[in-house]
Amino acid sequence: MNNSTLDPASEPPANLYAALAAGFPNPADLFAELPDGRFYRYQDVEEVSARFANVLTGMGVKPGDRVAAQTPKSIEALMLYLGAVRAGAVFLPLNTAYQPAEVAYFLKDAEPAVFVAAPDVAETLAPIAAEAGARLETLGVYHATMDAEEAPKPEEVGTLAVAALSAAAEFETVACEADDLAAILYTSGTTGRSKGAMLTHQNLLSNALTLRDYWRFTSSDVLIHALPIFHTHGLFVATNTVLAAQAAMIFQPKFDADAVIDALPRATTMMGVPTFYTRLLSDDRLSQDLVRHIRLFVSGSAPLLAQTHHDFEARTGHRILERYGMTETNMNTSNPYEGDRRGGTVGFPLPGVTLRVVDAQSGAELPQGEIGVIEVKGPNVFQGYWRMPEKTNEEFRDDGFFITGDLGMVDADGYVSIVGRDKDLIISGGFNVYPKEVELAIDALPGVAESAVIGLPHADFGEGVAAVVVPEPGAAVAAADVLSGVGDKLARFKQPKRVFIVDALPRNAMGKVTKAELRKTYADSFNN
Ligand code: AMP
Repeated sequence: MNNSTLDPASEPPANLYAALAAGFPNPADLFAELPDGRFYRYQDVEEVSARFANVLTGMGVKPGDRVAAQTPKSIEALMLYLGAVRAGAVFLPLNTAYQPAEVAYFLKDAEPAVFVAAPDVAETLAPIAAEAGARLETLGVYHATMDAEEAPKPEEVGTLAVAALSAAAEFETVACEADDLAAILYTSGTTGRSKGAMLTHQNLLSNALTLRDYWRFTSSDVLIHALPIFHTHGLFVATNTVLAAQAAMIFQPKFDADAVIDALPRATTMMGVPTFYTRLLSDDRLSQDLVRHIRLFVSGSAPLLAQTHHDFEARTGHRILERYGMTETNMNTSNPYEGDRRGGTVGFPLPGVTLRVVDAQSGAELPQGEIGVIEVKGPNVFQGYWRMPEKTNEEFRDDGFFITGDLGMVDADGYVSIVGRDKDLIISGGFNVYPKEVELAIDALPGVAESAVIGLPHADFGEGVAAVVVPEPGAAVAAADVLSGVGDKLARFKQPKRVFIVDALPRNAMGKVTKAELRKTYADSFNN
């Protein structure tokens, strides 16, 4: 392999791919078991990513150019990411749920040289790509059955896949500086315009190496990969950590309980959002025996209920390791690998990451135990928002700390807890109400599965506290039960003034409860 053999005396390469590839194992070693039964070897990673890099450079993509992709999850899409990184381009994955009008915004903002879409929507997106000056290519999902005599059809596998087939399988990974951009990931933008977080090779590499070591990933590991690959969790945390450890994965198109249950006996580890764990728990097949081969379950991207942590341990004997990160920062904190993994907390700052809790208004650091805004600094933290220098300035302190916008606190043992986003903080009658505290009180009531507490416009109080509550299956929980249940547990100003009983909370692709949507749904509850 061209860049796998390094002169030990020389500096490690700064290009993320080159640095990972320097440690790649035997080319015949397994990288991924695919849903169609194919086995992807490390040699395939090297060759297919080289083919994509060649195709991109052949199209005129130069270092620093953006390559945007809104493609279905496939191993080829993952190789496109690596190919773009190898070419020195800036990879820009887009959520597959984005509609054409949203895609138009991203393309206009990022001005990619190439935009890769799913074959079935290419026609719809063609004028949008043209308007943004991007060359439109397509990439679909390849199946083992297409290996047969017939040449793959571009309308199925995509124009880019067809081009890759005839491109050279060798590519000299472009040398770059550690601070060069490797990716731009747009934030979910629940409160305003979505912002492009600029991530460097160094941001991604440092986090991958830290997580590999902190979570003890080795070449013996087999990870269940059921996360989307347009988001930091599935694209970077899962994939880069596996590559850094020379490990393998069972690559699944999405979370499907049957497929995950089928894979668990062959895997050693899984990374998931909390809903993966609640869905597994609701399946009778989840047992200690099923997961006897697993050494580590990781959860993140949204809060894992302490109850889920507890129930999962009771059923499987495994304490889920919860960690905390975000698009802009990669991973910041993690519960320990050895030692006490505490449900309801996100553990300690990772090696190299400094974390502090400050007063939202003054920015002054708060004493241990007090709730405030979490700020972080470290090699994992992004460079700023793409073409938004003012916004970037607002979110960084002069001493380099990034203001995460998450509210949290550090307990006496050093464990960090997240109590919500600062934009979700409710100010009712001048008092601060932390939704998490109210949610915990409600969740502890009999028959309650989970809840979301939000602030709604209120003529007297500014905001009134409201709770959206999901009962456990088969349980009859009335609004009055919730109101009376928390009556002696919470100060009056924290108690919900309205309770809505629903079957399920709205969630985004990463399992996060979309509170903005709830605020919209119930907006007029107090003022009508
Ligand atoms: P994203 O940029 O989509 O990854 O979202 C990042 C946000 O998800 C963070 O700022 C937190 O608000 C939330 N988040 C991520 N991990 C956790 C966790 N373990 N517990 C609570 N919130 C989390």
